Amino acid sequence: MKVPFQDLYAQYLGLKLEIDSAIEKVIKNTSFIRGSDVDTFEEEFAKLLGLNHCVSCANGTDALYIAMKCLGLNGGQEVITSAHSWISTSETITQAGGKVVFCDTNPATFTIDPELIEQKINDNTVGIIPVHLYGQAADMDAIMALADKYNLWIIEDCAQAHLATYKGRNVGTFGDIGTFSFYPGKNLGAYGDAGGIVTNNKDFADWLELYARHGGKGQHTIEGINSRLDGIQGAILNVKLPHLKKWTRARRQIAHRYNQNLRNISQIEIPVEGSFNRHVYHLYVIKADRRDELMKSLKENQIETTLNYSRLLPFYPAYQYLGHSTSDFPNGISYEQRILSLPIFPEMTFEQVDYVSEQIRLFYR
Ligand SMILES: *Cc1c(COP(=O)(O)O)cnc(C)c1O
Repeated sequence: MKVPFQDLYAQYLGLKLEIDSAIEKVIKNTSFIRGSDVDTFEEEFAKLLGLNHCVSCANGTDALYIAMKCLGLNGGQEVITSAHSWISTSETITQAGGKVVFCDTNPATFTIDPELIEQKINDNTVGIIPVHLYGQAADMDAIMALADKYNLWIIEDCAQAHLATYKGRNVGTFGDIGTFSFYPGKNLGAYGDAGGIVTNNKDFADWLELYARHGGKGQHTIEGINSRLDGIQGAILNVKLPHLKKWTRARRQIAHRYNQNLRNISQIEIPVEGSFNRHVYHLYVIKADRRDELMKSLKENQIETTLNYSRLLPFYPAYQYLGHSTSDFPNGISYEQRILSLPIFPEMTFEQVDYVSEQIRLFYR
C-alpha cells in the first residue's frame, strides 16, 4: 500500500466542480488581485474565529512581518519566540528590526515553555510570539499573564493551527494579533501562497491594511509594502473554508486511531494533547527510537514521512551569530533526533493509518 504524506490532489477531486468554476469566474471578471472573493474570505475567516478583522496578505511569513511592523520594533528591542519552529517566526523578527531571543520548549507538547520565558524578559523585551506548533495551542493563560505583568505584545503564530482551541477558545484570539498561513499544505490551504492577519483591534486592522497596500492606494500616508492575496486564491479559499470543520474532525479521528494503534509500542511516544487543548493535528509527530532507521524502513514500504523540523532554529547557520550551545535548549535537544511526522490528511483512510501503524510495529519487533 502506498501512503503519501498528504494528498492535495485527492482533496481537489472532491471539490473539482466548485473550484474550477470559482477559478473561471475570477478569470472572467479579471479580478486577479484582491477583489470581491478576497473581501468575502476576509469576512468569513474572521467570523469563523469570532474576531472582527482579517487582513489578507501574500503568505504567512508576511503576516508575521506586517504584524510586527504594526506593533512596533526598533533596533535592539527583543522578541522572545520558540527555538522549535519554522524559520518564518524568527526571521521576520530580525527583518522587522528586532532582536531574536529563542526560548526552549515543553518537551511533551513541543510548544514554548512559559516558565522559561520569564527569565529571558528584560527592559528591552517588547513582545512574545508563541507558535501553536503542529496544530496544538501553546499555554496561552501563562503567556498572557506574562504579557500583562511586563506590558508586552503577543503575536500568535497560528500557521499550523486553524481552529485549534485553548480552553474552548480559538487560537489567534488571545494575543494582540494572530497570523495565519494558507500555504497549500496547511490545514486550510490555497493553491499557491496566501496568508491572513487577524485582530479585534480596529486601529491595528486599519494600519495592517494600509501597510500591506503601499500605505493606501492614492494616499500613501506611509511607506508600506506589497502583500496582497490573489483573487484566484481568495476564490479557492472560499470554496474550501466551509469544509474546514469537517476536515479538522477527520484529522482528529486519524490521530486518535494512530494513538490507539501505537500507544503500546515502547520504543515510541505518541503526541500529547494538553488537557485544555483541541489539537488540530496539522502534523502527527511521534518521538521514536532509531528514528532515521524507522524513517528509512517506512520509505521502503512506500510510506512517506517528514522531519518538522530536523534542527532547532538556533543551530542553523543563520543563527550562529547568537552563539548558542545545546545546553541552552535541553528540552528541544532531547527530542530533536527522535521526532518523526507520520502521514496525516483529511482524506487518509483508516486502512492507511492501520498499515502505517503495522509497519511501525513490525520495524520494532
Ligand atoms: C508555514 C508557516 C509559516 C509561514 O507561512 P508561509 O505562508 O509559508 O509564509 C510561519 N510559521 C509557521 C509555524 C509555519 O508553519
